[in-house]
Amino acid sequence: MAEAGTLRDAFLDELRDAYDAEKQLTKALPKMAKAASSPKLRAAFEEHLEETRGQVDRLEQIFQNLDEKVRGKHCDGIAGIIEEGKSVMEEDFDEATMDACLIAGGQRAEHYEMAAYGTLIAWAKALGHMDAVDLLQQTLDEEKTADEKLTALAEGGINQRAADAVEADTEMDEEEPAAVGVGSKRSTSKSKTARR
Ligand code: FE
Ligand code: ZN
Ligand code: FE
Repeated sequence: MAEAGTLRDAFLDELRDAYDAEKQLTKALPKMAKAASSPKLRAAFEEHLEETRGQVDRLEQIFQNLDEKVRGKHCDGIAGIIEEGKSVMEEDFDEATMDACLIAGGQRAEHYEMAAYGTLIAWAKALGHMDAVDLLQQTLDEEKTADEKLTALAEGGINQRAADAVEADTEMDEEEPAAVGVGSKRSTSKSKTARR
């Protein structure tokens, strides 16, 4: 029977997972930037793409410091998040709603990465790889900042623009029952009030 794996093996596994995740994201982020309508959102994705390339380099540095071959191991988690993002991009949403959805997908990815790097930092500390702790912390800080930037963009206008588009759409819908009769229009607006 093979020898039982140690925390060092688990740490290497997680590093390979993170390496693969970052590589997947370097392919997904340009598509998200392209799908964004807000210039600020597009710039945020492009900036984070640059950072992500640097994060790949940091992981390579860590493998080298540990005298380990640089290699990835397919990250199913980020693949799933990217897959969901792709489905959303295929939807026929208005521009602001699409931007809100791109932010939602981006933040799922950031939070997944924040969880992964949090664990990696804790394990690197426990194993005494302090150079790795430092490099991983730089990346974690970038992920957190990217997440906060997306929150700021969502709350700084994109969500509201998307919500205003709902209102415009609703006003158009309301014109139809008006032709049927006053009664049906009244019941429509009543049910809308009740939903609020
Ligand atoms: Fe990353
Ligand atoms: Zn993963
Ligand atoms: Fe990220």
